[in-house]
Amino acid sequence: MSDLALADAVADAGPRPRHRSVGVDIGGVMVGGGAPIVVQSMTNTDTADIAATVAQVAALARAGSELVRITVDRDEAAAAVPHVRDRLVRIGVTVPLVGDFHYIGHKLLADHPACAEALAKYRINPGNVGFKDKKDRQFTQIVEMAIRHGKAVRIGANWGSLDQELLTHLMDLNAASPRPLEARAVTREAMVQSALLSAARAEEIGLARDRIVLSAKVSGVQDLISVYRELARRSDYAIHLGLTEAGMGSKGIVASSAALGVLLQEGIGDTIRFSLTPEPGGDRTIEVKTAQELLQTMGFRAFVPLVAACPGCGRTTSTVFQELARDIQSWISTSMPEWKTRYPGVETLNVAVMGCIVNGPGESKHADIGISLPGTGEAPTAPVFVDGRKVATLRGAGIASEFKDMVNAYVERRYGVTGRAAE
Ligand code: SF4
Repeated sequence: MSDLALADAVADAGPRPRHRSVGVDIGGVMVGGGAPIVVQSMTNTDTADIAATVAQVAALARAGSELVRITVDRDEAAAAVPHVRDRLVRIGVTVPLVGDFHYIGHKLLADHPACAEALAKYRINPGNVGFKDKKDRQFTQIVEMAIRHGKAVRIGANWGSLDQELLTHLMDLNAASPRPLEARAVTREAMVQSALLSAARAEEIGLARDRIVLSAKVSGVQDLISVYRELARRSDYAIHLGLTEAGMGSKGIVASSAALGVLLQEGIGDTIRFSLTPEPGGDRTIEVKTAQELLQTMGFRAFVPLVAACPGCGRTTSTVFQELARDIQSWISTSMPEWKTRYPGVETLNVAVMGCIVNGPGESKHADIGISLPGTGEAPTAPVFVDGRKVATLRGAGIASEFKDMVNAYVERRYGVTGRAAE
């Protein structure tokens, strides 16, 4: 590779321009149309259990979810929705609610107008909105309800409940083709067509383009990437990204991050959800935090200050370094609610906590403020770097608290009233 080609490759780093999509206003939150990529989540409570649903929606919203979807699967759930909405407003949570409807959404929305009104968006799955002659009628009823109440609709195709009539039709066409594709490719095509044909039908019924969001979720990473590339290539609807049935623990996080990371890098996706299976009794807000971390580490948005810490190695035989990294991280999380109100922009802060002299000073210089701890056998001193310059050397048992004081002073100086005035 020539020197010039190398320079081009480096200059090309960064995501491709965003897919041009029509912006959709969902209860005051813009999705698409160039708006920042929105983080959303879904509850796993029985919506009819108002107290539990309110508590979980509030937790998800406070963790940073900008839209929260709730299941509306029967009369009791639909009847509960306006009460959930009202109680949330009373405790200061105004996050828009999205109703997830399957099979009988048309009936629930018609029978519970207060539910239809309380929701900001209706999610319809074209694979199970109704079958045979009922399909178009029931789909039309939901779309008409959205038009009447001025709501947005997500047309969300799903690999696990794909429109079987459409799939059979495409399989037949494929079988008759002189060069048939493999069955999985036909299924991917059916996913794309299911979403696009349903969106076209919704527009025909009268739903405006700026009221439609599309998704086509599958559980395989490569399938997902392929389906969404096609969806984006063939339309300009706002796009909801998510890997369905991503799974538990690190597997779910890695699979979702891999799939969504590739698509986001290609400029595809206006809103994302991590469909993680929580541990029994586990914290549902992890799906919000991981979605935020993906967007932040890829440079699309900033939510909380990032702490860069080295992994540690044989040069850090004591636990001082791990303890300090963990301590700083949790101290920043605890400080954020107050910092966010007092220091606008503090979420862009970068802190480095490094384990030894090998990469410590260099990495610390790249951060806004960083500390390089002494590795095994090094002099027991910890240089601190601010905006790339060494400003202090800490020693002894008070390193952690002195470093926090310095971070506090930095935050005040840079993001406080005086710092903002000086910019
Ligand atoms: S900075 Fe030092 S302690 Fe950290 S991983 Fe690198 S060599 Fe190991």
